[in-house]
Amino acid sequence: MKSLLLGGFMGTGKSTIGPLAAARMGVPFVDTDDVVAREAGVSVPELFRRDGEARFREREHAVLSSLLDSGEVRVIALGGGTLLARDLRHRVLDRAIVVTLTSTPAEILRRVGDVSTRPNLASSEPARRIRDLLEARSEAYSECHASLATDGVDPDEVAQAAVAVVARDPVVLPLGARTYVIDVAADSPETLTDAVARLAPSSLVVVSDASVRRARGAALDRALSHLAVPSIDVTLPHGEAHKTLATVQTIWDAALGAGVDRDALVVAFGGGVTSDLAGFAASTLLRGVRFLPVPTTLLAMVDASVGGKTGFDHPAGKNLIGTIHQPSAVVIDGAHLSTLPVRELRAGLAEVVKIALAASAPLFERLESAGATLLDPASPDLLRVIRDAVALKARIVRDDEREGGLRTLLNLGHTIGHALEAHGGYHRYLHGEAVALGTLRELAATVRGGLTPADVLARAERVLATLGLPTAVSRDELRAAMRFVSSDKKRRGSRLRIPVVTAVGSADVRDLAPETLRET
Ligand code: NAD
Repeated sequence: MKSLLLGGFMGTGKSTIGPLAAARMGVPFVDTDDVVAREAGVSVPELFRRDGEARFREREHAVLSSLLDSGEVRVIALGGGTLLARDLRHRVLDRAIVVTLTSTPAEILRRVGDVSTRPNLASSEPARRIRDLLEARSEAYSECHASLATDGVDPDEVAQAAVAVVARDPVVLPLGARTYVIDVAADSPETLTDAVARLAPSSLVVVSDASVRRARGAALDRALSHLAVPSIDVTLPHGEAHKTLATVQTIWDAALGAGVDRDALVVAFGGGVTSDLAGFAASTLLRGVRFLPVPTTLLAMVDASVGGKTGFDHPAGKNLIGTIHQPSAVVIDGAHLSTLPVRELRAGLAEVVKIALAASAPLFERLESAGATLLDPASPDLLRVIRDAVALKARIVRDDEREGGLRTLLNLGHTIGHALEAHGGYHRYLHGEAVALGTLRELAATVRGGLTPADVLARAERVLATLGLPTAVSRDELRAAMRFVSSDKKRRGSRLRIPVVTAVGSADVRDLAPETLRET
């Protein structure tokens, strides 16, 4: 269990709700203001006056860091400005559950009472000052695992809701006002029911493909039947061949035909093809409606459903047209993998190997030690690997949403992988299989160039082989596929932007001459 941190503006109820939540969790409650004041030997307003806000924040950050470093689970009430510093906020979001409490400015003013004891509200117009501060802090307050309104709600009910977030332990992708959470559950239709209910949509457009509908439709219906929200089903033909503008049009037509409004929610129930198409349709429908992927392939769970890339294929190449439209939530349920063909499961694991190679040695080591047990869709190891891969991808997208640098790491194996897919007419390989081959060929090239240690390639090859993924491609096929590299989006002028793995779990992005990738 993680610690629960209650954030939000002063007067939103943190010190009332904190002890109630702590009692429910059976853990101690601490208020960072109390600790700072105790350590300094003077009250917080006095500290503000004496040392200034910057010094106060330093003390507050030190207190919070040592509370988290101690490893003891607690409920911690934060000061209203504690998490305004982005780096600290993101570090905290990785380690604890952050719940922002919210209130209206009028109610805050009423609860605060005497503003003279609150240094930050010193103003002849405190109501206006509260509004201005709330506005200035709104992006920071939005970056949390959940926001809970406290006006007119029984504090114990709020405490119960906050503790429920700790039990869910979702992964958060903090992107200011577009922050969202990714739930990772095992056979829990109610996780989806609750996620949709939290978004309070006016209607649902449920997009799925025919095979997924057949295999997992009953589980989806179980989750959505409890919601009294009008819903339309759009069932698409399955497969990459249908990832086209014509299929997007089917979604637009169905949604507009049903008269949906801007508060509609597009639910993408399926693999990466469905989430790319449904996400694109959502990003353009009525100039953008909300979107919630419920991935049913491993590849979509660990990659396609997180990060907001949407789009469809063009005859000139894959994914050449698209948008970045972040989901409003993602719900991953491992139970959907029970009907997924094992070849598809393996293909998804290739993406996990790729992200681990580029960004996480511990995840790579977990893949090495779990090995073939990951091919059992019910394995707890697999759910853990999914969660870790999702958390890793969320961190990368958080720091580089529009692929200016870091996110390019996720393209490891994709330059050659896409070329192999295109050369094979998108029939010969599944995407993940092509990524497995692409990863090994790209690693081989950077080993040849002295940029990657040879043991990285050997370990990657071993793990991919253990997972039953292809590891060999003929020289002729590779040579023929290389002509598709030139249309790849990762090309910068005459050079290719390629992730280069420098050790297991670390990589950086280099611009390399295309010849570097050609095997002699
Ligand atoms: P997919 O969506 O085509 O699904 C693979 C097949 O499995 C389909 O035939 C589908 O009907 C079937 N299927 C899905 N779930 C099932 C289940 N639970 N039980 C039984 N059958 C099931 O393919 P994919 O591998 O999930 O995704 C590949 C696509 O994702 C590619 O188009 C790729 O470009 C895209 N992608 C996007 C991103 C992104 O960031 N947007 C990232 C990676 C990949």
